[in-house]
Amino acid sequence: MKRPAINRVVIVGGGTAGWMTAAALSKVLGTHHHDIILVESEQIGTVGVGEATIPMIQLYNNVLGLDEDEFVRETNATFKLGIEFVDWRKPGHSYFHPFGNFGVDMDGIGFTHYWMRWKQSGGGVSYPAFNAETEAARQKRFMRTSGESGPKTMPSINYAFQFDASLYAAFLRRYSEKRGAKRIEGKIVDVTQDPESGDIQSVTLESGQAIEGDLFIDCSGFRGLLIEQVYKAGYDDWSHWLPVNRACAVPCDSAGDWLPYTRSTAREAGWQWRIPLQHRIGNGYVYCDQYISEDEAAVKLMSRLDAPAQAEPRTLRFLTGRRKKTWVNNCLAFGLSSGFLEPLESTSIHLIQVAISKLLAMFPKDGINPRLVTRYNDEMAYEYDNVKDFLIAHYKVTEREDTPFWQYVKHMDIPDSLQERLDIFKARGEVMARHLELFKETSWYAVLVGQGLEPEGYHPVADAISEDELRLRLTKIRNGVQQRVNGMPEHREFVRQNCASPAAAFGVKGSEK
Ligand code: FAD
Repeated sequence: MKRPAINRVVIVGGGTAGWMTAAALSKVLGTHHHDIILVESEQIGTVGVGEATIPMIQLYNNVLGLDEDEFVRETNATFKLGIEFVDWRKPGHSYFHPFGNFGVDMDGIGFTHYWMRWKQSGGGVSYPAFNAETEAARQKRFMRTSGESGPKTMPSINYAFQFDASLYAAFLRRYSEKRGAKRIEGKIVDVTQDPESGDIQSVTLESGQAIEGDLFIDCSGFRGLLIEQVYKAGYDDWSHWLPVNRACAVPCDSAGDWLPYTRSTAREAGWQWRIPLQHRIGNGYVYCDQYISEDEAAVKLMSRLDAPAQAEPRTLRFLTGRRKKTWVNNCLAFGLSSGFLEPLESTSIHLIQVAISKLLAMFPKDGINPRLVTRYNDEMAYEYDNVKDFLIAHYKVTEREDTPFWQYVKHMDIPDSLQERLDIFKARGEVMARHLELFKETSWYAVLVGQGLEPEGYHPVADAISEDELRLRLTKIRNGVQQRVNGMPEHREFVRQNCASPAAAFGVKGSEK
């Protein structure tokens, strides 16, 4: 069979983006007609963070055909049902952004409208009681429900994973190499371009070795070795909306309570993440250096850990925004080289996955079609843009004004697209999520109401049923949630029985050793 014109794909970088790309390409394109080559430099290393995900990662895992228990075991992962936001609205307040739906949509409109009617007429049960993931998280329970044929009134459980980033890259490396992807160790010091087209022809290592390719995927991290240093694609700086620009990260011992969720706690100049894994907890203080120094942030973080630190804290620097173009000539940028929106809603790994799937859908065979390149760039820009608005809403909608950082974000200008959404939500309780938006009604509702924006009205269709009928339906939904959660094991017990890693810290509580 004739070899396609785009035959040699060179992936520059072996962090999460590089190995996710190598794994997907080696599985979907295969290595019979395509050479998949990954170049990485141990000397430079990877960013080493990025441990919390969202449920869409299951689509990626399914494409790879992974055995989920094996994946969890080998990456020391835990299951994640959502994110708890502590002190974001105001100190002492917390709310949960779950992965699943609140209630069920009825008569063509979202459950939230029925809930608002119920609440405005004095209904007593709290909103989170209508969401199984929130209830399960509160009780530290977890189980998978996919493929189960239980009663229809019981909701399914939506989940993602929290894993060790370096183990994840190593896991995907084994997967890729088994399928024929080739890894080359070395630091790239030079790039050769075709003098006419500007296409990259090869990258050259410090050793002098040149690696030729037809298509280059820049997964080199923040530096954007090809997309920026060669192509000067440009960067949209969003730091006026998302001002955090540093993260101090440190792992600590497992605290024994295996929370099936990530916690984000608002701090004086940003927020702190807590990601519990099987063998340790990942922690980080994400902040803006205009409001706190690097040294002070590190001291604050170290004083707020749940257990002894396992390493020295390390500081990462970034600028929130996105590359203006992520496909130029024969080069695409995936991962941090394509942009970074900050880790608040664990969206970066998802955006890598989106980039991979769009490349596969538009994969050039006999040459690169400029129309496809334009389309790809538009679609990726759209993905970043709507995640951006969701993130900004977390900061803008708050009652906090207790530090200069919170004063700034509460009063900052926001994009028109977000202002429009907040106005409609306030007036009608409607999110109006567009078809391809990542965050849908449940997410916006959970976060906006959690942050303190209560809608004044609801959709008129919610008034169409009688009060008795409303009470009956809501009670049925709530009972279904309770029934579901009551039947679930403890999260750590579920992991212990199905996918415990040899490094799992079961001993902390004492009895499970
Ligand atoms: P990197 O990990 O930086 O990898 C770059 C690779 O390029 C390395 O292998 C390096 O050796 C190689 N390289 C660079 N230059 C050269 C050269 N000259 N020659 C050869 N090789 C080279 N995402 C989430 O989804 N969830 C999270 O919870 C989350 N938390 C985060 C927290 C923080 C503080 C940060 C900064 C990011 C977080 N992310 C998160 C994002 C996530 O970490 C990244 O999207 C992911 O790790 C991908 O990184 P990468 O592979 O693009 O870059």
